[in-house]
Amino acid sequence: MADQLDLGLEPEAAGLRKQWDCVLTGLSKIAPRPAYESFLKGLEALHRENGRLVIGAPSNLIKRFVEEKYLPLVGDSVAEVFGARLELQLQVGTNGHARPAAPGAAPRSLSVDPTPPGCLPLNDRYTFESFVVGPSNRLAHAGALAVAERPGSLYNPLFIYGGVGVGKTHLLQAIGHRLRALQPGKRVFAMSGETFTIQFLNSLQQRRMDEFRKCYRGADILLLDDIQFIARKDVTQEEFFHTFNELHQTGRQVVIVSDRSPRELQTTSDRLRSRFEAGLVADIALPDLEMRVAILRQKIAQERVHLPFEVVETMAELVKGNVRTLEGALVRLLATASVQQAAITPEFVVDTLGHYYRNRADGRPVQFEEIQQRVCQTFSVNVTQLQGKRRERNIVLARQVAMHLTRELTNASLPEIGRLFGGKDHTTVIHACTKVRALLKTDAEFKRLCDDLVDSLTSPQACG
Ligand code: ADP
Ligand code: MG
Repeated sequence: MADQLDLGLEPEAAGLRKQWDCVLTGLSKIAPRPAYESFLKGLEALHRENGRLVIGAPSNLIKRFVEEKYLPLVGDSVAEVFGARLELQLQVGTNGHARPAAPGAAPRSLSVDPTPPGCLPLNDRYTFESFVVGPSNRLAHAGALAVAERPGSLYNPLFIYGGVGVGKTHLLQAIGHRLRALQPGKRVFAMSGETFTIQFLNSLQQRRMDEFRKCYRGADILLLDDIQFIARKDVTQEEFFHTFNELHQTGRQVVIVSDRSPRELQTTSDRLRSRFEAGLVADIALPDLEMRVAILRQKIAQERVHLPFEVVETMAELVKGNVRTLEGALVRLLATASVQQAAITPEFVVDTLGHYYRNRADGRPVQFEEIQQRVCQTFSVNVTQLQGKRRERNIVLARQVAMHLTRELTNASLPEIGRLFGGKDHTTVIHACTKVRALLKTDAEFKRLCDDLVDSLTSPQACG
C-alpha cells in the first residue's frame, strides 16, 4: 500500500506536505474565506528545523499580507496539527509541490505574475480541465465557458453564486486561465472583494484614488471573487458601482462571484442589484452522490494514487457536504493510511472518516442547539453551564465534547463555535478539539460515549 501513496517525495518532505495540507484545511475553517483563498491557500511549508517552520509564499504581496494580518491564525492551525507552537518564518518562493498539479499540467509558475499590483496569480489547479461538471453546476459552467470564449458579448455580467466550497472560485479562475490562453494581450484582473476593499481603503487614505481608478478601469476583464465583502461597505460599494459601470458600458466583461444571489446581497443598492440581474445569474448547488463519486475519482487521479471503486463509493456516500469537505476527507484518509501504513478498504474508510462525516440519513444538517441539548443530557449539566465559564471537571469536559461535535458535525467556523459557547475565543475551541481527539484515541469508554452521541445526533429521527 505504501507505494500507492508514494507521491514522489522524500518521506520526510511527504510527511511535512501532508501535515501542511492539514494546516491548510484547518485554516480554511478558521480564516475569513477571501483571506484564505487569496493569501493563505498558496502558502507552502518548506522545511522544519527544531522549533521553526519555514513557509514559502508565492509573492511578496502575499508574504506581507500574511505577516501583517494572519500570522496568529496560521500559528494556531500549525500548533493544532504539529502538536506544538512553532516559530514561523515566511519567505518568498515556493517549491511548487505543496499541492500536486494535475497530471501533465505545467509546473506552477513561481514569480511570473502578469497582472498589475493587487491582482492575484491564478491557481494552476483551477482550470476547466479539472472542473467536474454535473447537475449542480451545469448552468454556471456553461456560462463561464461562454464568457471565457467570447468575453463581453453573451452574458455580461456573469453572476455566479452558491454556498461554501462548491467550486465558485475554481470556476472563476478557470475563466481567467482560458482568457489568458486565448487572448494573451487582454488585461485580466482577478481578485477578491476583500482585496478590492483593502486597496480602495488604502488608496483613499493615501489620497491615491486617481491611480486606483485608472488601474481598475484599465481592465479588459474583471473577475471578482466573493463580492459579498464589498456589498457590506457603503463607500467601497459606491466605488465598485462606478468601476463596474465603466467597464460594463464599454463592453468589457465582468464576472462576479458571491455567496448569495443578487437579491439576497444585503445593503446592495437597487441599481447595482438590477445591473447584476441583467446578465446571467447562475447558482452552484451541493454535488449529488454521482457527482461526488466523479469528483473523488478526479481528485484521486490528481493525487496519483489508486483506490478501488468500493472505497470511492463508500467515501462519496459518507461525506455528503461540499467539494472542499470532500477534498478534506480525502486528505485525511490518505494521511491516516500513510501514517498507519494501512490498506485502504471500505472498512478503513468508515473507521477513519465515519466519526467525522456521518450525516443524518435524511440529509438534514445537525443544529448546534441539538448538540448542546444532547451533550447536556449525557453529562448531566445544563445549557447555561455549558456556555458559561465554570471550570468543574464534568462541565469542562461536556463543553469540550460539545465544541468538538459542533466542529465535526456542522459547518460552523472556529470563531462561530466560540460565539455559540458564550463568546469564547477560537483558540479555546481549538484546544477543546485537540483535547477531545487525544482522549478519543486513548479512552475507549469515552470514545463509545462520543460515538453514541454522534449516532443519536445523526440518526434520521434525531431530536426535533
Ligand atoms: P468556493 O469558492 O465555492 O468556496 P472553491 O472553488 O474554492 O469553492 O472549491 C473548493 C475546492 O473544491 C477547490 O479545491 C476546488 O478545486 C474543488 N472543486 C469544487 N468544485 C469542483 C468541481 N466541480 N470539480 C473539481 N473540483 C472542484
Ligand atoms: Mg471561493
